[in-house]
Amino acid sequence: MKHSKLVKKDLKVVWHPCTQMKDHEKIPMIPIKSGKGVWLYDYDDNKYLDAISSWWVNIFGHSNTFINNSIKKQLSKLEHVLLAGFTHEPAINLAENLISLTPKKITKCFFTDNGSSSVDAAMKMSYHYWQNKGKRSKKSFIALSNSYHGETLGSLSVSNIDLYKKTYESILKDTIIVESPDNYNKKDNISEAQHAELMFDKMHQTIKKNHKNVCAVIVEPLIQCAGYMRMYHPRYLELLREACTKYNIHLIADEIAVGFGRTGTMFGFEQAKITPDIICLSKGITGGYMTLSTILTTDDIYEAFYDEYEKLNAFLHSHSYTANPIACSAANATLELFKTKKTIEKNKALSSYMEKSFESLKDHPHVSDVRQTGMVLAIEMVKNKKNRTAYNWKERRGIRAYLHGLKNNVLMRPLGNVLYFMPPYVISKKEISFVSEIMKEGVNEATKKSS
Ligand SMILES: *Cc1c(COP(=O)(O)O)cnc(C)c1O
Repeated sequence: MKHSKLVKKDLKVVWHPCTQMKDHEKIPMIPIKSGKGVWLYDYDDNKYLDAISSWWVNIFGHSNTFINNSIKKQLSKLEHVLLAGFTHEPAINLAENLISLTPKKITKCFFTDNGSSSVDAAMKMSYHYWQNKGKRSKKSFIALSNSYHGETLGSLSVSNIDLYKKTYESILKDTIIVESPDNYNKKDNISEAQHAELMFDKMHQTIKKNHKNVCAVIVEPLIQCAGYMRMYHPRYLELLREACTKYNIHLIADEIAVGFGRTGTMFGFEQAKITPDIICLSKGITGGYMTLSTILTTDDIYEAFYDEYEKLNAFLHSHSYTANPIACSAANATLELFKTKKTIEKNKALSSYMEKSFESLKDHPHVSDVRQTGMVLAIEMVKNKKNRTAYNWKERRGIRAYLHGLKNNVLMRPLGNVLYFMPPYVISKKEISFVSEIMKEGVNEATKKSS
């Protein structure tokens, strides 16, 4: 079918996520016909380098032969079976594989459906644990400012970005918000670790004051991805782990975006050498093929639910497609690729090449920050570099960069005035250079004087 015809048909019936549909009167809708590696192809024979891994899910490229074959093999055996009372090899293997990647104390895998639902289930699990332990007053959660944990009612409750939350505030659960240790706000004369320590004082005070009523602290380790790719030092997680243990509060690591190598290590929390009580995983878990999420947790939490049926202490959370075998087979293939391709090791070279390629942007008169953690690089555009005055959001400058990218074969999708680069790991150095050139032009386009 022709490109233009598909667009017309789409706009008649499809309501798109995170989109003011009226924007499509001006901003093009792009039907994608196929994908291979880092490239996506449309129906007009244009190609786009997927510089944001299709919303951070893609790990080993589009239409990856190895993952395709794993899915095909599974498809010929079993498409799905319920996971209550029944089980299957892909789920068992995936649970084993994930647990083998995490610290010793992590011993159990609970399957959920997508990122948001894993956060909802993690909140329920933590709350229910304390109920089962007789700590009836524990009902609240602590989260960081500028956090994003999803957009279902539970996960949105522990998020703190106005854009997604403000409108729905009155139907959400109250959450205690503590100022984020974001490096962007760090004073020049101290180190990032020192900044993390200073900022932790606020968290410490909040925990001390509220711990009797708090189930868990939930954080995105090292990078607040939807929160404009703001980054912080692992020292904060170290201190948070200590305080959570001391005050009997769970630490939930939302690794949905940063897990599977984005921060340079398999999981972000590894850089603080800590073990969270609950780990939420999704996005990259299937290599970007389909929806699946898991919660990993400890024997301590598992045991609090393990009891005679009559006590009614069992954890109650279920999704129809829990641990879908096809999704699990994509995930197992993805984890195997991490091993056989030595991905974490090889990404080090890609990561430093990314750093070099974007270095010159630090001197751009409208760039206040070029920050990077592992395989995530972000560029913050400002009106005034000296005092870091932000552009008025209504100017929507990021969209200018987005459109420049589309015209020049790069798919980027800025978060407000922040352009970022989070590629599939199969990207080549040449392709990194190409993206950096187009992004630099994009920054110039976006920061030009308004006409
Ligand atoms: C994307 C994301 C979620 C939500 O996952 P969905 O699969 O989109 O529901 C939760 N937490 C973080 C940190 C995320 O980046």
